[in-house]
Formats: sequence, structure tokens, C-alpha cells
Amino acid sequence: MPKKIHSIVNGVSQPSMSGRFHEVFNPATGEQTGQVDLCSAAEVSAAVAAAKAALPEWAATPPMKRIRCLFNFKVLLESNAQRIAHLLSEEHGKTLDDAMGELSRGIEVVDFCCGIPHLLKGEFSRDVGTGVDTYSDRQPLGVVAGITPFNFPVMVPMWMYPVAVACGNTFVLKPSERDPSAGLLVQELIAEAGFPAGVINMVMGDKEAVDTLLTHADVKAVSFVGSTPIAEYVYRTGTANGKRIQALGGAKNHMVIMPDADMEQVADALMGAVYGSAGERCMAISVAVPVGEETADRLIDIMRPRIEALRVGPATETNSQMGPLITRASLDRVSGYLDKGVADGATLVVDGRKQRQTAWSNGYFIAGSLFDHATTEMSIYKDEIFGPVLVVVRTDSFAAALEMVNVHEYGNGAAIFTRDGDCARTFANAVQAGMVGVNVPIPVPVSSHSFGGWKRSLFGDHAIYGPEGVHFYTRLKTVTTRWPAGIRSGVQFDFPTLE
Ligand code: NAD
Repeated sequence: MPKKIHSIVNGVSQPSMSGRFHEVFNPATGEQTGQVDLCSAAEVSAAVAAAKAALPEWAATPPMKRIRCLFNFKVLLESNAQRIAHLLSEEHGKTLDDAMGELSRGIEVVDFCCGIPHLLKGEFSRDVGTGVDTYSDRQPLGVVAGITPFNFPVMVPMWMYPVAVACGNTFVLKPSERDPSAGLLVQELIAEAGFPAGVINMVMGDKEAVDTLLTHADVKAVSFVGSTPIAEYVYRTGTANGKRIQALGGAKNHMVIMPDADMEQVADALMGAVYGSAGERCMAISVAVPVGEETADRLIDIMRPRIEALRVGPATETNSQMGPLITRASLDRVSGYLDKGVADGATLVVDGRKQRQTAWSNGYFIAGSLFDHATTEMSIYKDEIFGPVLVVVRTDSFAAALEMVNVHEYGNGAAIFTRDGDCARTFANAVQAGMVGVNVPIPVPVSSHSFGGWKRSLFGDHAIYGPEGVHFYTRLKTVTTRWPAGIRSGVQFDFPTLE
């Protein structure tokens, strides 16, 4: 019997009355394991109302008191890590180690938030004019919302609500309907950590819930992470409704491989960065750009046996290196791209479909694939495939490789592997991407920095978490003061100056 998955509003489980549901599957077996509510607009509005009711007291709570709840939350996350990771693996399909890694990167953001009072303390200038002092600080926006994707059901929400509530906002989270259970468990820990009811709420839903949040007068800002078409829609709809929006979208992350790179290191890096989490990461490397024919030949030679040896299997098997895709539709989409690449003339060096695990034939498994001799006109190069597929586009110079990265519509991450400092420095300076790795394949910034791509990988002006997250969830107030002893008598009609 599939379990029923409900929203949590005001710290209490809230079954939906909408009569609409989404089926949740174990992608390793294809079995339905759950049924998640899809809330109506009225139910989403009730969650916003709960957050609004909790706002005045929470915003007025001293930051040091607010972060005590975050400290408790961090301890609870650590002591429940195995439970969270198991649930995450069961619905997403990623390996347990990968799920633990996701959780620990989420906890890192909670760690950062425990120091947020330092970033909220503002600035003060004495004597900006005669007897005049000025101070500025950052104040919360109000009720803010987050809409998150399936591929990091625990970490990505933690890019949002710990920062938002540490800054004094209250929060409504709309997670992915495809794998909501691990996030739901985390939500239960939130109540245990001592956050007052209504400060962080979680509503289950789909487009109807998203549209309600984007148009609701009481929601002041929305953080979105997901695919580019929806990110763009969220940005346009949210800003048209007067909200502050950060909408992080899809990616096609390139790795440029220079002839002087250590090819063993390149291969190790690519195996994890391309095939980890079955390629369902917005920072996955999906394009390799070897510079020079010899570099390309060495790359293909070293990658082929490694990809063929990749251990594909369910998270429940401890030696699995890569799990299934999230849905059958994803499996069909990835398989369709393999056909398209062949039809367009690329060389399919390793075809992941040939290694489908017969023991797990009902699951959404596909092994790693490798294309060589792809060109920039092909859809396997242009589109985000979001699966375990590496596309190799050969090039003859560093300048051509850099240009290739720069004209691609996405600009989330980019990496270069080289021993040449000049080349690496030029790449880091000139590449049109928000997060750059030099001999680092997945340059996800630590929580004291901020995460965000360029071009069509991010709509809005703020990256997420870190100092940019604090800016996103606060607004600046500047106060100018003068006391009676400093006030000159008489009326002044000219524009005030510093005298
Ligand atoms: P998605 O865009 O399908 O869904 C994201 C969220 O939007 C979900 O909560 C979903 O319910 C909602 N949604 C879906 N369709 C909608 C619609 N028509 N109208 C309104 N809301 C809608 O993304 P996904 O498949 O869950 O996640 C994978 C995508 O997310 C990939 O493109 C990946 O690159 C991207 N991603 C980006 C980052 C980043 O930081 N840039 C991080 C993780 C994932």
C-alpha cells in the first residue's frame, strides 16, 4: 500500500482535500511507494497565511535566538543522517554515499547560517554631517517561498530556508512532487528543533501551487531551482507580480582538457562528474572538450574501459557506483538522445542501453554512455540531457575551446584541466560561467560563498546561499539621525548637504 505524503503547515501534517495526487516510485524497482498530495490554491494560501501569522514574532526575535533553532536543527540532521539518506536514495535512486554527501552539503549551509548575525549587523558612520550619524542594516522581506527540483530533494531546499529564516523571514517550501519523503522527514526535524509553528512550512503540489505562490500578494520573494523553461517562467511571472525572484535553471557544463593535463586525473574526475548520480546534477560535466587530436584519442582510450566497468545498481547494493534515473520518462528521454546523436553523425563509443541490468529490469537504469566526434550543431551538445552521457567535442586550440563554452546558452559551471597556469588564469577570467573549476570538475562553492550560474542558467540578480543569499532575503534600510543639540535653527529650503 503506497504511503500517503502530506504537507506540513504550522508544524502539523495537513492532508489535502483537493482530490489530486502524484504517484511516487522507487526508481530502482519501478514500484509505486507513495502518493503525494497536490494542494489546491486555497491550501497553498493557507500555508502562506500560516507563515504570515508567524512573521511578526519571528522577525522581532533577536538573531542570536533565531539561530539557536538552527543549531538544534543541525544536531538533529546529523543524528538522523542515515534515515534521511536512506529515504533519499529510495525515492531518488542515488547511492547512499551520494545521499550522505548531499545531506552534508546541506548541513554546511545550516553551519553558515549559524553565523548570520555577523552579516546582519550593518554599518555605522558617525558625523556624516554636523551632528549627523548614519547607520544601515538589512531587514527581512516577510513571507518568502522556495520551489525545488527532484535531483537534490534535501540539499537544494537547504540552500533556501535556513538562510531565509536566519534573516528573520518565514518560509513556504514547495518541493518536487517526484521524491518528497526525505524532505518531509527533515521538515519533522524542523519542528523538533524548536522553530515556532508557521516559520517553515512545506506544501506539496505542482503547477497550481507554484502559480499560487508566484501571484500571492503576501509572498515577497521566491527562490526557484529547476529546469530552464520553468525557471524563466517563474522569473517572468514572479517579477510581473512584483516579487523578488532568483530562478536557477539548467546547465551544460564543459570540461576543457589541455594537452598537458594528467590524463589519469582527468579520467578520475570525469567518471565522478559525468556519471555520479546518473548525471542528474546541474553541475555534472556533460561535455568534454579535448584540445588537439592526440589529447582526444587519449581521452577516449582511457574513458571507454572505465565507463564499461561502471557498476550500475540500486542504492541498496553497497558496491553500486551509479543508480537509476528518476522516472521512466527520463529513461526514455536519455535513450532518445542516444538515438538522435547517432542519427546526427556522432560516434557512440559506449552505449549505456546495452548494459541494462537484467536483474533490475523494472527499474529506470541505463549505464554510462560516451559520444565522440560530436559537433556544436547537434542536439546532444546543445540540450541538457540530464543523464549519464558524456559528449566529446574535439577542438584544435584553447581559444576555440573557450569560445565554444562561451557561446553555449547555459553558463552554470565550467572546468579546465591543465598544468599551465597562464592558460588556467585566462580561462578563469574569460569564461562565461558562474562557477569555474581549475583541475576541479564540480566546483560547487562552499556555503560561505554563493552558488549561481550565468546566462540561461540563472534568472535574477542574486546567486543562492552564502552572502548573496543574505542579500536576496533582506533589504537595506539606511537611517540618518540628528539629535536636538546638533540641529541648526531656521528653515532650510536648499537641498540638504553635509554642512
Ligand atoms: P523542473 O523544472 O521540472 O521542476 C522544478 C520545480 O518546478 C518542481 O518543484 C516542479 O513541481 C515545478 N514545476 C514543474 N513544472 C512546472 C510548471 N509547468 N509550472 C510551474 N512549476 C512547475 O526540474 P526537475 O526536473 O525537478 O529538476 C531538474 C532540473 O533542475 C535540471 O534542469 C537541472 O539542471 C536543474 N537544476 C538546477 C540547479 C541549479 O542550481 N542551477 C540545481 C539543481 C537542479
